[in-house]
Amino acid sequence: LGPTITIGEILVEIMATTVGAGFLEPQSLTGPYPSGAPAIFIDQVARMGGGGGIIASVGKDDFGLLNIERLRRDGVDVSAVAVREDWPTGSAFVRYRPDGARDFVFNIARSAAGQIALTPAAEALVQRAGHVHVMGTALSIPGAREVILYAIETVRARGGSVSLDPNLRKELLTDGDALESFDKVLAAADLLLPSGDELFTAAGVSDEVGAVARLLESGIGEIVLKRGEQGASFFGRDLQRVDCAAFAVDEIDPTGAGDCFGAAYLTCRRKGMTPAAALLHANAAGARNVTRLGPMEGVSTLAELTAFITETPRR
Ligand code: ADP
Repeated sequence: LGPTITIGEILVEIMATTVGAGFLEPQSLTGPYPSGAPAIFIDQVARMGGGGGIIASVGKDDFGLLNIERLRRDGVDVSAVAVREDWPTGSAFVRYRPDGARDFVFNIARSAAGQIALTPAAEALVQRAGHVHVMGTALSIPGAREVILYAIETVRARGGSVSLDPNLRKELLTDGDALESFDKVLAAADLLLPSGDELFTAAGVSDEVGAVARLLESGIGEIVLKRGEQGASFFGRDLQRVDCAAFAVDEIDPTGAGDCFGAAYLTCRRKGMTPAAALLHANAAGARNVTRLGPMEGVSTLAELTAFITETPRR
């Protein structure tokens, strides 16, 4: 079957350089870096030779160009990235709290990223796709929601598969329609990649064993729970479970780890690896990503992951 596709925001990310500093006063920032959870995800898929394309929209400006050039260079099919003259490229400003939490100021809805639509190029990409990956953040964009639901239906009808990374961001959860489409995507998903409380939110159950059981019963084939520096766990039908400890690395920037993790897991599974092998590679992809400043700067090739796995101790 055809390539993995995703639909959603391409952004530039601009980060505070000082942990704990708020945006209420001037401070030093770094960026722009190519970003947007769907963009990071698909870049990691392409770097691993997985074949990936994105349906998105950027402005006709430096921020848009920066992203398109980067994605193209890494092998992403950017034929369905619309370049809009009438809207600027979207952005995310990020600051870090001392406890490691992040706060975002997003400009998505009123940017080019908010204008995603089913263009002829997007339609053509959907027609070629074998897998649709959905990032929860993209469900906050009305146009993207429509394309996502259409792509899921079309690709599933051809025997393709679907994955969902809930990636719930409090800054974007303002819209009842987003939550309704979240449930539709969840019902269609073969693979779910939650982190932290997203497992409980998706299941409507607040203990891990119960939440996993509920979701597997509802028809999801595989659940991979991301646990940050605690690693990750795989849960499959017939309740098999595999745990994987995180690699011991120094975290510089956590943004993008979950996206790279998901992309590596999915790509390894689509290449025929077992869940345990895919989980190990995904842990490596997440760990490598956090060692680099910039959400998309720590993406890995399969060869880099393989070398990292043999060289790096685990926690
Ligand atoms: P998300 O970004 O979606 O919240 P996580 O923060 O759990 O996801 O990160 C995804 C994966 O990346 C983790 O499951 C782990 O494999 C890896 N990872 C994240 N942070 C670290 C870290 N500090 N050290 C090692 N691995 C990490």
